Amino acid sequence: QAERLAAALATLNDDQRAAVEHGVGAAVADDHRPLLVIAGAGSGKTSTLAHRVAHLIADGVDPQRLLLLTFSRRAAQEMERRAGQVLAKVLGLKSERPPALPWAGTFHGIGARLLREYAQQIGLDENFTIHDRGDAEDLMGLVRHELGLSSTVNRFPRKGTCLSIYSRCVNTRASVAEVLKEAFPWCGEWEAQLKMLFGAYVEAKQQQNVLDYDDLLLYWAEMVAEPALAEAVGARFDHVLLDEYQDTNLLQASILLAMKPDGRGVTVVGDDAQSIYSFRGATVRNILDFPSQFSREARVVTLERNYRSTQPILDVSNRVIAQAAERHAKTLWTDKPSAGKPQLVLVPDEAGQARWVADKVLAHREGGLALKSQAVLFRTSSHSAALELELARRNIPFVKFGGLKFLEASHVKDLLAVLRFAENPRGRMAGFRVTQLIPGIGPVTGTRLLDAMDQAADPAAAVRDFVPPSAAREQWAGFAEAYAALRTPSLAWPADMELAMDWYLPHLERLYDDTSGVRRQDVEQLVRLAAGYGSRERFLTELTLDPPEATSDRPGPPLLDEDYLILSTIHSAKGQEWNSVHVLNVVDGCLPADVAQSAHELEEERRLLYVAMTRARDHLHLLVPQRFYITQQAVRGDRHLYANRTRFITESDLAGFEQQTWPPPPVQPPAVPPPAAVIDLRNRMRAAWR
Ligand code: ATP
Ligand code: MG
Repeated sequence: QAERLAAALATLNDDQRAAVEHGVGAAVADDHRPLLVIAGAGSGKTSTLAHRVAHLIADGVDPQRLLLLTFSRRAAQEMERRAGQVLAKVLGLKSERPPALPWAGTFHGIGARLLREYAQQIGLDENFTIHDRGDAEDLMGLVRHELGLSSTVNRFPRKGTCLSIYSRCVNTRASVAEVLKEAFPWCGEWEAQLKMLFGAYVEAKQQQNVLDYDDLLLYWAEMVAEPALAEAVGARFDHVLLDEYQDTNLLQASILLAMKPDGRGVTVVGDDAQSIYSFRGATVRNILDFPSQFSREARVVTLERNYRSTQPILDVSNRVIAQAAERHAKTLWTDKPSAGKPQLVLVPDEAGQARWVADKVLAHREGGLALKSQAVLFRTSSHSAALELELARRNIPFVKFGGLKFLEASHVKDLLAVLRFAENPRGRMAGFRVTQLIPGIGPVTGTRLLDAMDQAADPAAAVRDFVPPSAAREQWAGFAEAYAALRTPSLAWPADMELAMDWYLPHLERLYDDTSGVRRQDVEQLVRLAAGYGSRERFLTELTLDPPEATSDRPGPPLLDEDYLILSTIHSAKGQEWNSVHVLNVVDGCLPADVAQSAHELEEERRLLYVAMTRARDHLHLLVPQRFYITQQAVRGDRHLYANRTRFITESDLAGFEQQTWPPPPVQPPAVPPPAAVIDLRNRMRAAWR
């Protein structure tokens, strides 16, 4: 095995190997220091982590005792796959069966699992459901309304703003006053009312047995702030490994520190130049403070060789980040052969951009690049609208990452609400939604039912015994029956899904009448997805925390083995790579976005462009529409602007690009000399009849 191990690690460079082998199997106490790998894009941080996981398992660490925190569920699965490849080599296996990594996931997903497991010790009911952003906003709105704080009457902040303020307080561990001063100065006068609102919001969540996204981190942090629980939770894991550490927030860092105060077995990797989530409270301080945070000083490994991109792509990317106000002391190099300079393409407008991109994508495919190895990236989910139309028109299949459309569709929400209401009868957002699907039941009756259920020991019986308005009687009986069935403890997933479907479909047909056909397909897709999850609770939790990549407005879901183009927001493209990458709307107003005003926000936009550009392996195309439409909240409707190339690419950076204008300026047709004399054909016409 030693030989095979050496062979599996032979592809790594010295620094990568040092990180992979750090502390593995070593008896030297010093080698159990925490480890930080800080390095630029494409330098192999994630691969190093995957090799380390494989090495640890090959060395005898129980996979159950590895906690692996990634940025998305997809990233966790990718890590499993990569580690599996290495492990198969080390163990000399024929097939590459990935080692199951039961504790690989996102902070939120793992948090949800730990909280369920320790629910009893911390006063939670283990059947809690999780509110997504929409539900959380609605509940905030409801509580605000109950307190008589209205945005129309007394101009109190909107529910979305309230939730953002609340969330920022939680994630940065700051007071309402501090957050208002720093980020929401125009809401400053409402400090006292906001505090009252947040107090009531927390109470409402507890009453309904729901947690919002932030709670998953907050309860986890509070749990491990208790020494006994910190010890219990921390001791379950020999190793805690984190990818993309630059995008974690203070709460997440405090969880890590509380679980592993001496840093033993802690490995984090990241790149301060790629920090793009500070709008959600992430802070690069975490990565900068890491070396001295634990009771043992960390070992720091840096990587400078890039294995992903060609030198011309690195050159232009390095220049974008080199002009950042904050210093990121890294310059990447590679010896990967180059396929020419990256392109900077001027197109007339977004429609032209869409056409150019579609043409190029097809040209690349002719040249042998599968659609799947190509991606189109953009700042904001809505920026791909014109392209989506063009792709649909030409029958180019695609999948869009980072858009929540599928789960936002009201019929998908309906069906999920049915399942949530069965899972947690106290969850009023889901419960209310379900009652409103029943003909003859209005808001008042819906609320009356939920109140009755709150008092009841058996929720299904409360539904059965409830007396609805007489017009709704018959429908009610059907609902009560379905609800009782869904509450049956012995029900095996995904049987509940089938039951919920059976009850919901007639309502779908009635409610959405002429669009019910397409909607039905979405619902059926949801049922197919459901089969991939182990239980109703898992399905609901993971779907809420990490929605699948799907959008409801494309012709049909691509089959898994089919080839499709990737469309993604830059934020969701993090950590990934493609042979060819298009970046849309590389113009001021989009990148940087016009909402970015402060120097700090502008720097984050620069890093965002850097992240986008460094996703490319061989081909990078930056698109600059000369004109584009933006929707501004202040102005009704769309506004049409003349656009300039992004300020992050300066005049002197242009030499790094192949510049192109499309369509090429029209060539004047050769002038035809006018006839020397007038020939009057009319005579001839008349003569023919003479
Ligand atoms: P990002 O900052 O974008 O997350 P990263 O540092 O995590 O990037 P990886 O995704 O791990 O980089 O690696 C980039 C590419 O380089 C991958 O295709 C990976 O397989 C390849 N790679 C990494 N290390 C090596 C190596 N030693 N030899 C050959 N290829 C490598
Ligand atoms: Mg990575």
